[in-house]
Amino acid sequence: MKVTFPHIGYCSIPIRSLLADLGHEVIVPPPISRKTISLGTRHGPEFACYPLKLGLGNFIEALEMGADTLLMGGGVGPCRFGYYAQVQQDILRSLGYQFRMLIIEPPLGHAREFVEAARELKGEKSWAALVGAGRLALAKLGALDEIQRASLRLRPRARDKGDFSRLYQEAHAAQDAAASVKEVREARDRALEGMESLPRLPGIPPKVALVGEVYLLAEPAANLRIEERLGDLGVEVCREVWISHWLHVNILLDFLRLHRQEKVEKLARPDLQSFVGGHGQHSVGDTRRAIREGYAGVIHVYPFTCTPEIVARGIMEKLAAREGMPLTCFSLDEHSGEGGFQTRLEAFVDILGQRDKEAEGHGG
Ligand code: SF4
Repeated sequence: MKVTFPHIGYCSIPIRSLLADLGHEVIVPPPISRKTISLGTRHGPEFACYPLKLGLGNFIEALEMGADTLLMGGGVGPCRFGYYAQVQQDILRSLGYQFRMLIIEPPLGHAREFVEAARELKGEKSWAALVGAGRLALAKLGALDEIQRASLRLRPRARDKGDFSRLYQEAHAAQDAAASVKEVREARDRALEGMESLPRLPGIPPKVALVGEVYLLAEPAANLRIEERLGDLGVEVCREVWISHWLHVNILLDFLRLHRQEKVEKLARPDLQSFVGGHGQHSVGDTRRAIREGYAGVIHVYPFTCTPEIVARGIMEKLAAREGMPLTCFSLDEHSGEGGFQTRLEAFVDILGQRDKEAEGHGG
């Protein structure tokens, strides 16, 4: 089969590796561009979540390149992710495309469907081959996360941001090319050493917590490259929501039927007691963590119309006002422009700088 999948940041690297190792012809959609956004918004329902529209755009571009099988995640819970696959499927069929959609449902409550999807994915290969391909893909995802964490810490400190970007892109290309877990680790170590060894600026950058909806946090084209922009503005970004963690909780722990309450949910409890869907509880919990750990500020990103994050935002705004924590919220969609976004980020970073000066003045 000629299989494709929607982009979620650098996750396309491990997903491509998994599918190629299972012997499939993989059609990676082109990186998300204005054309992708325009296709997704033209054919998607107006008030659908932005990630649904971007995924739809990815699928249309991949189908035009010859894909015949679409791989998509399923979901359960109070928000709309569980409907994405069905809605996208209906729209694509109404546009006349012929394809098969393979939906990976979360194992909790769908164990049989999960195993069936895994069986289809492995095709003629053995279960051992599936485990081997999965192990390599997870090693790549873990390495890419480590590289990303290092980049969040080191980009604001790097003297030459252009050199840093070049190393970062080379690190991703090396992960894409790695053919074994050993090669993945070697490439990761080389990338980390390279980033650590770049000449640095003096001083300690302010730390900001970046919280919000998981897709928007993971996909630079959807979040207007917020992590890179903040790094270039000299701000260290701390993020707790990662796709690898989401997979660990929603696939592995669910499959093993292990207790999955996360620390951050407990942290959110004084202000938000119940699950509101998506990562709403995480956004509140991570804001409380940022306050407790003395961060300089909190930035919240979420898709326009994302209900869990709208609930979280109301709570976070009260919490931040009560605790004197600078907070800025970005609700993003196809209409979000880079110019206004950059200006708002710069203004927020200026506020952090002024607070530092005031604190120094009070200290002196
Ligand atoms: S978390 Fe938000 S963006 Fe994601 S499916 Fe739910 S409502 Fe939509």
